[in-house]
Amino acid sequence: MNFKCFAENCSNPLKYYCSCQKDYVFSCPEHINQHTDEGDVSLHCIKVMYKCIDSEKKNILINAYQKVSEALLKSQNSIIISINSLVQTLADFKKNTELFFRDQRVGVGKIIDSIKLEDKELIIPELSERKKILHEELQAYYDLLDKKIESFCKSTKQELSLLSELNKDYNEFYDDKIFDFKGNANLDKNLYFFKTGTKLFAEFNVINQYITQFEVNVDEAQGCLGAVCQLPGYKIFHAGGYNPDLASGYIIDLNNHSVEILRGVRGRSFACATYYDNEVYLFAGWHINANLAYCDKFSLATRTWSSLANFPAGAVYSVSALPCREFFILSTLSGNNLYKYDTKKNSYDILTQGVVNHVCNILFRDNDKCFYLANNLCFKSNGENLGIWAKNAKILTEPLGHITSKPVSRNRNVYFVSSQSRIIYKFDLETEDSSKVLTY
Ligand SMILES: [Zn+2]
Ligand SMILES: [Zn+2]
Repeated sequence: MNFKCFAENCSNPLKYYCSCQKDYVFSCPEHINQHTDEGDVSLHCIKVMYKCIDSEKKNILINAYQKVSEALLKSQNSIIISINSLVQTLADFKKNTELFFRDQRVGVGKIIDSIKLEDKELIIPELSERKKILHEELQAYYDLLDKKIESFCKSTKQELSLLSELNKDYNEFYDDKIFDFKGNANLDKNLYFFKTGTKLFAEFNVINQYITQFEVNVDEAQGCLGAVCQLPGYKIFHAGGYNPDLASGYIIDLNNHSVEILRGVRGRSFACATYYDNEVYLFAGWHINANLAYCDKFSLATRTWSSLANFPAGAVYSVSALPCREFFILSTLSGNNLYKYDTKKNSYDILTQGVVNHVCNILFRDNDKCFYLANNLCFKSNGENLGIWAKNAKILTEPLGHITSKPVSRNRNVYFVSSQSRIIYKFDLETEDSSKVLTY
């Protein structure tokens, strides 16, 4: 980030920041007194900007970038081996083609020479019949082969240019742009929810553990348990709600608090929203005294809805979703099944029959471990075999409320919120136990 001293034309190194303005005021040591004398002096709150870098932190950072560098080198080497092998095959093909045509021409040249030298002609009937070479047929044959090779070369070049477009800059791999499938595979940085009965949109910051809020220009006072998730570009998708039952949806821009009203939103609550590959997925839910079987996705590219296959357990609510690279893990409100939703085939399978579902549940991941919390139980699966989920012996200290927020992990804790019971929860990944962070 490019910080500058607030004093005009000052390029001294910075030392302090003041939180009297939303985007902070930065100052060098020379100008700090000038700032504290300005404006409403009671608002100034000066703090030091930097501390000596922690060597452990530094090593973790260097390590991460070294791994990136190693991954790039490994991929480069492997891709170059494949390309070299293709280049060699093409070079051989070219050489053999040239040799073949040269040999052919030499052979034909010999025939021409021998005809030139002939001064006698065989005249025994039947034996004297000379075979006629059909040069037009030969030309037609090689014209076809030429076309075949030309079309092969053209499509190969096209495929190569498509492949080269697949190279992605390492900047595309920061976690605000791409899913971390070792983590919760969502873009949510904090917990987001409406304060029930208001138009106040709240954010629980998982770092400083404060709730901040702002009024949003939505059409109606909001309920609780709407489907919510973060989108690229620091935006929030929010649809539906309970108490009152709502069939409205919005995209809220956290940069400037502006709101886009979504069309064609189906009534829904007790459902989570899942951003995946430029679309938002919603599974089942509850609306006006009825469970729902319908599932939808919203395309961010076209701003349109399309229906997914109905939920395999029928009309249910409280379905949590955890994205994996090619499918989602889905929970439901009762029974023993977790489901697998294939995003490409738009179909469901039973992933396991070994959990105990509950209307209050959430799914999240920590590296290779997947967690499923249901009421006061914790089930775990190692990513190797998602068919097997083991129940922890320990009962969770803080049983869950209804959750429609995404899980957000920070510093070995996973945070989530029930906007119905107005509780922010955290799950400690070391002790594998839940606790209440705050009630709002
Ligand atoms: Zn200055
Ligand atoms: Zn200030």
